[in-house]
This record gives sequence, C-alpha cells and structure tokens, in this order.
Amino acid sequence: MSFGVSREEIQQPAPLSTGQNGNVVAVLPTMATAHRLRLNPNTEHKPESYEGLQLEFSPLLFSSLERYLPPPLLSLPRDSKLHYMRDIIIRYSPDGERTRVQRHREYRRKIISRYQPLHRELYIMHASNFFAPSFLKAINENKEQSFRSIMAEPIPGVFTFEMFQPRFCQLLLSEVENFEKWVYETKFRIMRPNTMNKFGAVLDDFGLETMLDKLMEDFIRPISKVFYSDVGGSTLDSHHGFVVEYGIDRDIELGFHVDDSEVTLNVCLGKQFSGGDLFFRGVRCDKHVNTETQTDEILDYSHIPGRAVLHRGRHRHGARATTSGQRFNLLLWCRSSVYRELRKYQKDFSSWCGECQREKKEQQRVSIAATKQELLKREGKAATRT
Ligand SMILES: [Zn+2]
Repeated sequence: MSFGVSREEIQQPAPLSTGQNGNVVAVLPTMATAHRLRLNPNTEHKPESYEGLQLEFSPLLFSSLERYLPPPLLSLPRDSKLHYMRDIIIRYSPDGERTRVQRHREYRRKIISRYQPLHRELYIMHASNFFAPSFLKAINENKEQSFRSIMAEPIPGVFTFEMFQPRFCQLLLSEVENFEKWVYETKFRIMRPNTMNKFGAVLDDFGLETMLDKLMEDFIRPISKVFYSDVGGSTLDSHHGFVVEYGIDRDIELGFHVDDSEVTLNVCLGKQFSGGDLFFRGVRCDKHVNTETQTDEILDYSHIPGRAVLHRGRHRHGARATTSGQRFNLLLWCRSSVYRELRKYQKDFSSWCGECQREKKEQQRVSIAATKQELLKREGKAATRT
C-alpha cells in the first residue's frame, strides 16, 4: 500500500446506502481530512460482524479496523462505519493493486465454479473432527498457561505442538491431490503458493478460504495475542493458506528466507519422508535481515505429521532437502493490516529483532561506560583540589 491518492478519490461523494431496517442511512463526508483513525485501538469495543456482505475486502479487515475508528463513530449504524472504513482502505490501495485483486477474484471464481471438492467436510470448520483433543482443550481454556502446557518452545518465539488429527491430515492431503489431478486433467493454469515453491497449491483459491479464516480467527489469533502481540498478533485479519510439496520430483528444499506474514503456522501433513528439517536463524527487521546469526539463535527442527510449528514471519528460516519420500506441509501466513500500517512509522524493532536488540544493548553499554568515565574524571578533579 502507498499514500498515492488521486484527487477523484478524495472528492467523490459517498453513496447513500440502505440500512438494515430499510431506511436511508446518512453517510459521513468523504473528504480525505475527515477520515482519520485513532492511534490506539479501543480494546473494550466489540466490533460488528461484516460477514456475509458483498465486500471487496475481507470482512475481518473491517472488524479489526473498527476498533480504530474515532469514538463518535462507534455507535453509528454498521453501514456508516463500513463506508467510512472502506473509503480509508481504498485511499491507501493503489489502482494497480486493485486491478490485481479483481483479477485474482475472477481467477478464484473460475476455479470454484468448476472444481468439484472431494471431501466437503473439510470446507466447514468442525473443530472436534479437525484438531487433537489436547489442542482444543488449551484453546477453550484460552490462557497462556494452557497454551504452554501443550507446547514446546525450543528457541524463544518458536512454538511446536500437536494440532491436527491424523484423519484430518489424510483428508486434506487427498483433497489437495484431487485438486492437482483436476488441474492436470483440465490443463487449468494455476498460480503456485509463492515465488519460491514451484509445487503445491493455494487452498484459498479452491474454496477453503472461509474455513482457514475461521482457523486463524478462532485458533491462531488467541495464541498469537499472547505470544506475538509485538508483531500484531492480536489483530491478525487476513491470511494466505497453501500446501507445499517436497520430494525428489517436487520441490526439494527451500532457501533461507522470511515470510510475508506477521505469524506463520506450519503443520506437517505427512506422508512418509526423510530429511526436510526446518532450520531457524534468528528474527530480523527489514534493515537487519542479512546480518549474522548468533549461536543461541540456531535451531534445527524435524517435522512430525500432525504437529504444528508457529513462529513470527520475520523469523529467518529455510527447509533442508527432503531426501526420500514425499512431504506435504500446510502453511498459513497470518497478517495484520493494522500492524502493517503502524509499522511504517516505527524505527526501533528491538521488541523482536535480534539485531535491533543487540544495537540497543550496545548503545546502553557505551552510554553507561561514558557516564562512569565522566564520574571518575570529576572525582579525580575533586581529589586533586583537596
Ligand atoms: Zn532490526
């Protein structure tokens, strides 16, 4: 997103819209200056649901932005708030981006209207069928202590825990294989999950978006709120969900990188494989992304089917070669639009960037040393005077 705003957008009058009760709802002026957000969210305010409306942006985006509305707006009808927020979002999204979004929506519509799902039960969240009982229990208790009781934290900020039932992993794998078969047979040109994976499929593109939104909202956000609040963990409002495939005739390994996410969920789905370890090398901000790894930042992790790894998107990582068999992993990149907006004005990332932390500590050390030096000098002068 950029600040490029065209005049037309600013001066366009807001359309009048019909409220829920059929009355016409007055819409606030759309002059750019009138559209402001508060800096800190009203955490007590319970946002409305924007589900089920025909919107060009995710309903979750509106729900999370609502807490940032100026106080007088909070009590207005939903439609008024919707227009106010929509104008802000459009103002920040350049034309090129909007065209891209529209094209992608058309691409998705085409797939969804033609592809016949194999396991329809996967497309609606059914927690007790999907998740391991221990995971469900911890989520229901919704306390840091409960989360920690089912998790290992082999290195600060990387959590691993048993998440999915084996049957869910099997069904999802078979659905992905069915989708790949359909792609092959119909010669449909699909987009791969990201710039680094040549194999695998975007789950959101063939109908799993709603289920994955629910997965993020009800199961990942509560955990991220506790462990990743410094990177927008409590305001996660959009996701990119995909499956990657590794093996001899698939992608073999994945180079060292950071994800385009605030929080990444990575769950191994199977099947039989050897190799494919995930390696971590410290969390870094943009400026420090290529700095050296410290020895206490090194972690190598071996995947176990059904088991999840949760980490900050900025935690540098990669995947070693899968040397035999086939490995499938589900990836959910969770993002916070609010955090991304606020990050633009931030320079110090020492709450999570290992290098920013070291720089800050070094500055403190230097300044303490200088103060000591100064004090010693004064004492010395005082001593020579007496
Ligand atoms: Zn940094």
